[in-house]
Amino acid sequence: MIYAPKGVEDILPPRAELYSQIEREAGNFFSLYGYHQIRIPTFEKTELFLRSVGEETDVGKQMYTFKDKGGRSLSLRPEGTAGVVRAYIEHKIYGKEKVWKVWYAEPMFRYERPQAGRLREFYQIGVEYFGEENPWVDVEIIEMAYLFLSKLEMDNIEVQINSIGCKQCRAGYIRQLKIYLKENLSSLCGTCQRRFYSNPLRVLDCKNKTCRAVLQKAPSIEDFLCSSCKQHFDTVKEGLSRLKIPFTVNSHLVRGLDYYTRTIFEFKSFYLGSQDTVCAGGRYDDLIEELGGPSTPAMGFAIGLERLLLTLEKMGRKPSVPSLPCIFVVTLGKSCIEKGVQIARILRSQSILVKVNFTEKGLSAQLKQAGKEGFLWVLIVGENELKNKSYVLKNMKSGNQQYINEKDIENISDILRGDT
Ligand SMILES: [Zn+2]
Ligand SMILES: [Zn+2]
Repeated sequence: MIYAPKGVEDILPPRAELYSQIEREAGNFFSLYGYHQIRIPTFEKTELFLRSVGEETDVGKQMYTFKDKGGRSLSLRPEGTAGVVRAYIEHKIYGKEKVWKVWYAEPMFRYERPQAGRLREFYQIGVEYFGEENPWVDVEIIEMAYLFLSKLEMDNIEVQINSIGCKQCRAGYIRQLKIYLKENLSSLCGTCQRRFYSNPLRVLDCKNKTCRAVLQKAPSIEDFLCSSCKQHFDTVKEGLSRLKIPFTVNSHLVRGLDYYTRTIFEFKSFYLGSQDTVCAGGRYDDLIEELGGPSTPAMGFAIGLERLLLTLEKMGRKPSVPSLPCIFVVTLGKSCIEKGVQIARILRSQSILVKVNFTEKGLSAQLKQAGKEGFLWVLIVGENELKNKSYVLKNMKSGNQQYINEKDIENISDILRGDT
């Protein structure tokens, strides 16, 4: 027996249908804001991720990287933004469209320690918005995520926002932060002591108690924002308030990716334990230029589908199975199966869910099975019916029976409607 590799999961029905439903609902909702779907490659050149996500970040270190048979270093995408940005530059979209808005729903891959809501292959629904710097773009994107999650009846969601400034003002902040952290370096956990050198901003979101205590007195980035970053952030906060989107400013909020600038945000669910972030994103105004495109402001977010579903399932949501009219075609004997299959085709062309019996079971056993499987009608195809070209249609609920001529099968929907 060969089992699935550690950290990946089969998504069996009906759960898989819930995934598709949410993805469809997301796409429909985002399209109201002018987003179009994009499909990006599952793997890219490793270099793309190292230059965007960052080599020293957790995500950068968790990549599935391999050499293909031509000796090229490739990586499975650990997130969606880098691939979308590469596509934007490669296809010179900037020369054709001033503003470009896309959404995707794709699996991502990270070599993590598997736990509830965190797998090595996981699904994200994401959006990316290119071409506008206006803080109202930030407001609209956060609003869209908020309203989408509200539409799914997710309650108990907290929106946290922060601004990590632009390259210039962030550098000043990091300098001060490092001075402060250096004085307290011995009190920090091992991870943070390493991060102090590789990525000091990440120390801010450490969950360790003693680190948290140290961070209470750490300088706050809000005090270091340059005037245009401050103005941008003020307008975002003002806009969210005006649109009545509840949020808190968390000055310790940072994201585990190198490319963010200015506004970043996370949606946290109280239904989840430590894996509490269901949606996260932010601005990345420098990334397109850093990857070789023209300077273009941009912003996006991604929703983790596993965590979203965990929350929805904890809230009791089940996939809504579309209720098609359904007919079980009873076939009595080998010679009747072919006719049963032909009839089934005509029934399905009327959008009716049909199951044909291929077993040697007798009439009563088949009726019992049809009832157990929840079929509302059975259509009986036996030797006599074949001869007379007339079939018994039985309503399993009421017990009503009627004969249906071969010709009437083409319009059986009308008959079924009168028999529910
Ligand atoms: Zn700035
Ligand atoms: Zn720490």
